[in-house]
Amino acid sequence: MSCIYIVPIWREEKYNLEFLRSKISEIFRKKAQIYESKKINLDSVYNPTRKQYNSSQILIQLLSNHPRDTFRILGVTDVDLFIPILTFVFGEAQLNGIAGIVSVHRLNNKFYGLPENEELLRKRLIKEAIHELGHTYGLVHCLTPGCVMNSSTYVEDIDEKSDQFCSTCFSAIRG
Ligand SMILES: [Zn+2]
Ligand SMILES: [Zn+2]
Repeated sequence: MSCIYIVPIWREEKYNLEFLRSKISEIFRKKAQIYESKKINLDSVYNPTRKQYNSSQILIQLLSNHPRDTFRILGVTDVDLFIPILTFVFGEAQLNGIAGIVSVHRLNNKFYGLPENEELLRKRLIKEAIHELGHTYGLVHCLTPGCVMNSSTYVEDIDEKSDQFCSTCFSAIRG
């Protein structure tokens, strides 16, 4: 049986991702495992001018080395991600592909000078991870209020949506 692999890519912070693994397994009804990859090189995707990391290049690294039975592969990092046309991204995924990446960097209250809140951070990470995996199922941004596929520009947008797919998006996941 193929598997959703979750790849921790830490620079400074380290989080136990078991809560995320079990949630993803439950939502997507697939086996999910934490997979430590030695092939991710953050230094090579760092942009010193922007002081950020190129998320598309991390996706390429994830795709170039993953277990044979990979169904999806999702990187989880603490570094600040960007794509060239945007000032930052919470995450990125291949539409109809197998790879996604999500960052906790801007999901952490600490980034906004607010008191840390582990529970809130976990909720935000779950939503963004499910959102990016949704893109790998071919889902685009959804306008149905509360759907996890709503696009999020600010962290407040993430807090406003749920971690659930609306019925239309859900049917695409279940095929
Ligand atoms: Zn999106
Ligand atoms: Zn939806």
